[in-house]
Amino acid sequence: MLDSIPGPSARERLQARLAEASDRYASLRKVSKLFRTSLVETAALHDVTLDIRRGEFLAVMGPSGCGKSTLLNIVALLDPPTSGAYLLDGTDVTRLDELRLGDIRKSTVGFVFQSFNLIDTLTVYQNVELPLLYRSVPRAERCARVRQALTRVNLEARMEHFPNQLSGGQQQRTAVARAIVGNPKLIVADEPTGNLDTRNGEEVMAILQDLHAAGSTLLMVTHSAAHAARAERVLHMLDGRIVREESPAAR
Ligand code: ADP
Ligand code: MG
Repeated sequence: MLDSIPGPSARERLQARLAEASDRYASLRKVSKLFRTSLVETAALHDVTLDIRRGEFLAVMGPSGCGKSTLLNIVALLDPPTSGAYLLDGTDVTRLDELRLGDIRKSTVGFVFQSFNLIDTLTVYQNVELPLLYRSVPRAERCARVRQALTRVNLEARMEHFPNQLSGGQQQRTAVARAIVGNPKLIVADEPTGNLDTRNGEEVMAILQDLHAAGSTLLMVTHSAAHAARAERVLHMLDGRIVREESPAAR
């Protein structure tokens, strides 16, 4: 009877499998996305299977319209897949209702857009504070966190400025501060340097790399081969599929 209890090798295999599973932060299995309008149906993603490791820095490249933003929006819980499974930190998020999904999104994901998406009538401070207001964080804690996030992107001195008083790079750094003010585990950035000149793009990249070095999982779309080369893994997409994968560091 005792002989039938799994020996160390079986136990070791199980432990290795569990360790591997917990290392897998986000898992997409055969995820597809269809967009239907009255005129056309677009298959933006076809059966995409992807594992993102905890703490990984992953870049996504590919021509316009190949599904990069669609993939990021699904990973960031901004949009549900049409079919397939998505596990985020062990939770099957495709089974959750909108309310629960919103809670997880707010506490887990920070999103940086190409076009900054700041609110023009709010100051830098107020823009960064906004996600904390939505989460009903008390005032004193909001103040501390906003200042910390602004320090991290080197914008403490611009707190009272409005977006139109800032350079593009400063606006995007404000947007990065807004994305990280809630301490998200996952940072999703959709062409974050797409609207910036080289120097400002460099500054934003340096901040994103710092965040990754501090433990955040980072998923970033870029058209810049030089920026993609800083990632641990680069996915190349075409027509709604991941067609190639490379590890720049190993080259
Ligand atoms: P990328 O970010 O790589 O440029 P997208 O993910 O934005 O590509 O789009 C992929 C495809 O899905 C495109 O053909 C696009 O026109 C279509 N698409 C994206 N969003 C929508 C939407 N909300 N409604 C209809 N079609 C969409
Ligand atoms: Mg896009």
